Amino acid sequence: MQDRTYTADAEPGDAVTVAGWAHEIRDLGGIAFLIVRDQSGKIQVKFEKDDMDDELVETGLDVSRESVVKVTGDVEEEPRAPTDVEIVPTDVEVVAPADPELPLDPSGKVDAELPTRLDNRTLDVRKDEVKAIFEIRAEVLRAVREAFRDLNCTEINTPKIVATGTEGGTELFPITYFGQEAFMNQSPQLFKQLMVGSGLERVFEIGPIFRAEEHNTPRHLNEATSIDFESAFYDHTEAMDACEHVVKAAYEGVAENCAEELEALGLEDEFSAPEGEFPRLSYQEALDKINATGELDEQLVWGDDLSTEAEHVLGQEVGEHYFITDWPSEIKPFYIKDHDDDEEISTGFDMMHPSMELVSGGQREHRYDQLVAGFEQQGLDPEAFDYYTKMFRYGMPPHAGWGLGGERLVMTMLGLENIREAVLFPRDRQRLSP
Ligand code: ATP
Ligand code: MG
Repeated sequence: MQDRTYTADAEPGDAVTVAGWAHEIRDLGGIAFLIVRDQSGKIQVKFEKDDMDDELVETGLDVSRESVVKVTGDVEEEPRAPTDVEIVPTDVEVVAPADPELPLDPSGKVDAELPTRLDNRTLDVRKDEVKAIFEIRAEVLRAVREAFRDLNCTEINTPKIVATGTEGGTELFPITYFGQEAFMNQSPQLFKQLMVGSGLERVFEIGPIFRAEEHNTPRHLNEATSIDFESAFYDHTEAMDACEHVVKAAYEGVAENCAEELEALGLEDEFSAPEGEFPRLSYQEALDKINATGELDEQLVWGDDLSTEAEHVLGQEVGEHYFITDWPSEIKPFYIKDHDDDEEISTGFDMMHPSMELVSGGQREHRYDQLVAGFEQQGLDPEAFDYYTKMFRYGMPPHAGWGLGGERLVMTMLGLENIREAVLFPRDRQRLSP
């Protein structure tokens, strides 16, 4: 539509055509208003019934809510209008009428349950506070990409249909690939590692990961967006520095460019980018801190994984983003390198928001013999991973990296209670459509 003006750009004195949705009709008797909403905002269209063409008035005021309309007219200053301007129409066209019965109310006056909202996402994302989440998500991805470019990374895209899983196990979704069993990839781990040994050296990928998580939880999806980083000649501490840089950049991007969206979410006062370095606690220090609170039924001992409850207790204690480092090797994946001076301790780390895990990373095992032994210890057949291990025989540098859950980043940043709020069309145990 070449002659279209966004409602936010309509200035007094302009003759404009706006196009959008019939947000609301307010009939005060002799005078009535149609509020038109578009991506940029809303504008009031004024109908003075006695002074205007009857057909024009009828079209403008009989339109059902949420129909698509096109309004042509003159923009006038009007201090009593919500945006200080209004349109005096010369033409109103109903471009696409909406059924009078809507499955949910985009004005938000009537609350809808999450399943109803997800079944009708098109209408749901017409709400300012829902639209704001996805505008912010887009800004997070933009800022993250820019931060990776600051770090001299190359963006890559790797296959999502694979012959073998990264870590094997029950979390894989099997599919049929021309009569052969294949899987949806649960992580770009192996591919990004293969690329640090290529001429690219430092790479990132933003893409889907698929995990057959058994349970519906507020922070797990079966299809999630992973923000992955991997760099040649980095150790785990340098990888943590990069992680901090990228997460802070996401917050700073939102703080700088999403004022309106934060306001729509009621977060304008409380939102702030994290400052200072994220504390780095060793796993042992984390256990000690948790045990000292006495809040868990049983004291944690070396080798225990941190339960959701333990993460929560620790998050309360630390109160900001933080890293947990130096995990027991036995509970980190085999491709993570152990410390050279103590093979009981791995270079693996997690980066945590006070409410949950956001990132797992570490330095990788780049020595061929140790890597192949790791596959065997894990009960995996190294032959099946030959395409991967083979490249470690042709000059694979030491390297480190991490994976950050994109939806968890948005969820924790905005204090959303359910990860599904941060995905347009979530996939979970019950939901495969839309
Ligand atoms: P958790 O223990 O919280 O289930 P994980 O340790 O299994 O996560 P990793 O394999 O370490 O997950 O994946 C790296 C990051 O990817 C996680 O820290 C998280 O932010 C994100 N992530 C992993 N699985 C999911 C999922 N099912 N849904 C949403 N995000 C996920
Ligand atoms: Mg993890």
